[in-house]
Amino acid sequence: MAIQIKGIGKSFPQNGKQTNVLVNVNLTVNDGDFVSLLGPSGCGKSTLLNIIAGLEKSTLGEVIVDQQVVTGPASDRVMVFQEAALFPWLSVIDNVMFGLKIKGVSSKQAEEMAQETLKMVHLGRFTKAHPHELSGGMKQRVAIARALVMNPKYLLMDEPFGALDEQTKLLLHSELQDIWQKTKKTIIFVTHSIHEAVQLSNRIVLLGTRPGRIIKEFAIPYSQPRGKNDPNLTYIEGQIFDDLKVEIEKVMQEEVDHDYHVTPNRLPWSSDRDMGSHI
Ligand code: ADP
Repeated sequence: MAIQIKGIGKSFPQNGKQTNVLVNVNLTVNDGDFVSLLGPSGCGKSTLLNIIAGLEKSTLGEVIVDQQVVTGPASDRVMVFQEAALFPWLSVIDNVMFGLKIKGVSSKQAEEMAQETLKMVHLGRFTKAHPHELSGGMKQRVAIARALVMNPKYLLMDEPFGALDEQTKLLLHSELQDIWQKTKKTIIFVTHSIHEAVQLSNRIVLLGTRPGRIIKEFAIPYSQPRGKNDPNLTYIEGQIFDDLKVEIEKVMQEEVDHDYHVTPNRLPWSSDRDMGSHI
């Protein structure tokens, strides 16, 4: 029981009144888990991740990490965001060393650690490059290296591949699977892509919306690396879709006519089964 999320509620002021965004969220994350928080946009996934990171305060409940109540950010929980947010004036290696130096690690040791970690994300020959010289995928690799080099117990990832093209995303999926196996980190990963969640995680926690809450959990017991078109995974994707259909309809009926219904042929039932930024 590495992370215990107990009775988390969160409200935000919206249109002049407090709106419940998360209601009674309870979840235990075990050491070594790769848990995906999956749900339609706006269901509170990022808010929940931020609360676990200590970047946001909950209105109700508490998060306990290794027996300590979370009161703010800590070095055992490192976030990777959708935007890499690298320091543009620093080289790749200096970006990765930055946190180590603040922690007081000597320059020589920090450089060795950064070099090693950059090799893990296959950027060993780009250490002297600057962020403007990198593609989106390379920037995300640097962001992952910058998080890993701190050796946090928990890696919190908020749609880290959401802005990448399909090919780059697929490569990074397989590399993240390798990294998870090699480093044994506990990962909590926010996504709205069913396919991404099924490819990467050993547990998928489905969140519903209006208000955000956990509606179901799926175990994905298959070994990694996982094939993109594995029929077992495709079957689970279909099951998850059936559960989320109702939630997607709820959002759609606020945005379009009330008699709107989601049918598979109305959705972009692509290989990605992506619920998109609007639904
Ligand atoms: P998701 O990650 O599932 O897309 P978010 O956690 O980003 O959802 O947001 C959940 C809801 O909370 C949304 O309706 C969003 O507009 C609202 N929200 C998030 N942060 C704030 C904030 N700082 N102030 C007001 N509303 C917020």
